[in-house]
Amino acid sequence: MPPRRDADFNISDDSEPEDDELDEDYNASRTIRTKGKGKGKGKELGAYAWEASYKRSWDTVQEDEAGSLQAAVQDLVARSKRRRCACSWGDAPIRRTIIRHMMFLVDLSTAMMDRDMRPSRFDLTLSYAREFVSEWFDQNPLGQMGVVGMRNGVGERIGDMSGNPQDVLKCFLDKTLLEPAGEPSLQNSIEMARASMNHLPTHSSREILIIFGSLTTVDPGNLLDTVDACVRDQIRISIVALSAEMKVCRDMCERTGGVFGVALNEGHYKDLLFELVPPPADKSPVSRLAAQAGEGQSELMQMGFPTRLPATAPPSLCVCHSRLRSEGYICPRCNSKVCDVPTDCDICGLMIVSSPHLARSYHHLFPAPAYKAVLELDGKEASACHACSLPFPTTARAPLQTEEGMSPHGRYRCPKCKHDFDAECDLFVHDVLHVCPGCG
Ligand SMILES: [Zn+2]
Ligand SMILES: [Zn+2]
Ligand SMILES: [Zn+2]
Ligand SMILES: [Zn+2]
Repeated sequence: MPPRRDADFNISDDSEPEDDELDEDYNASRTIRTKGKGKGKGKELGAYAWEASYKRSWDTVQEDEAGSLQAAVQDLVARSKRRRCACSWGDAPIRRTIIRHMMFLVDLSTAMMDRDMRPSRFDLTLSYAREFVSEWFDQNPLGQMGVVGMRNGVGERIGDMSGNPQDVLKCFLDKTLLEPAGEPSLQNSIEMARASMNHLPTHSSREILIIFGSLTTVDPGNLLDTVDACVRDQIRISIVALSAEMKVCRDMCERTGGVFGVALNEGHYKDLLFELVPPPADKSPVSRLAAQAGEGQSELMQMGFPTRLPATAPPSLCVCHSRLRSEGYICPRCNSKVCDVPTDCDICGLMIVSSPHLARSYHHLFPAPAYKAVLELDGKEASACHACSLPFPTTARAPLQTEEGMSPHGRYRCPKCKHDFDAECDLFVHDVLHVCPGCG
């Protein structure tokens, strides 16, 4: 239901019971407006300035011949999906870091108890954080993540850097341990995160992601010195703010090459957070890696593929928890037993990964080509989607309903193999499969 426009109300100016100054101003402007155009609903004449920039979603929805809204709604859904994906599928070769290390800093100050996001910023953050961690590890199986909370003016270590999604998820499970209190301290928390990433090898990315709900920070020293140190250590800071933009936060992100965003509502909050899931592109002209390896060369790193012990193996102690259990993985270099991969061997330091993990990270480096929307037909196209064999619609949608990146025929063509796919398969190929079924 669209909200009723002011002009629809019948205002009788003499029947205002009590007028304070604000109300008078408001009524005056409204009276002029109403008089200026009578009872008309003219869109430009007399509309408030903010109305001009406000896109009325109910105006863009159009009924089809049968008077049904279903097609229009599906169209809107597809459009928003494509918009979300369009930005992440590029053609240009980008250098990406597939071995990522991220410290997840969560604001646990009293500002997180605000209820401007439902049910509260705190509850919403916890549930998004859980989804984010699962998705992040799914897309970055070789990554590691640690969690730091910001409350009572200090940084609080909640979870150590770990490559196991279950360990990280555990940090966000117990709500009572994360109860918001006091003021946050950006400097203390960033310093803590920085210290825990100091030892990391050069081939991995170092990232800090901050969810910041407060508008203040309580710091023992100069926050800008900490930012300088992060720039020096090549730590990328990204911030999702929940209240408003703070200059120091934006500067921090810009100087370290991260992303800054202010969440407008619950959905936008999630979008901002999940944009940080794919590995960041290495935009610096001379990356740290290249600088070290010399021009045109790549740095090699050692990885070990472990032997997996079956559940029937005789129980033995693992080196990571000293627990007696049967399952586990044997380090190929020192033969010690670890519980989970990917991890760094606790004894010899070798990075232990399973080959499926490595393969899953691979697609970020060689993404499936972005499909191009087919705008005009020449009559020689296949009648069905190359992936799911469902027939394409035979009638084109009105050109009014199309915008950039959308095909009026519902066809999206792979630039390499020239096969046509429908919108659903286009999304599936780029979101889940990461390889074009036509190119094979
Ligand atoms: Zn263990
Ligand atoms: Zn080892
Ligand atoms: Zn299909
Ligand atoms: Zn293809």
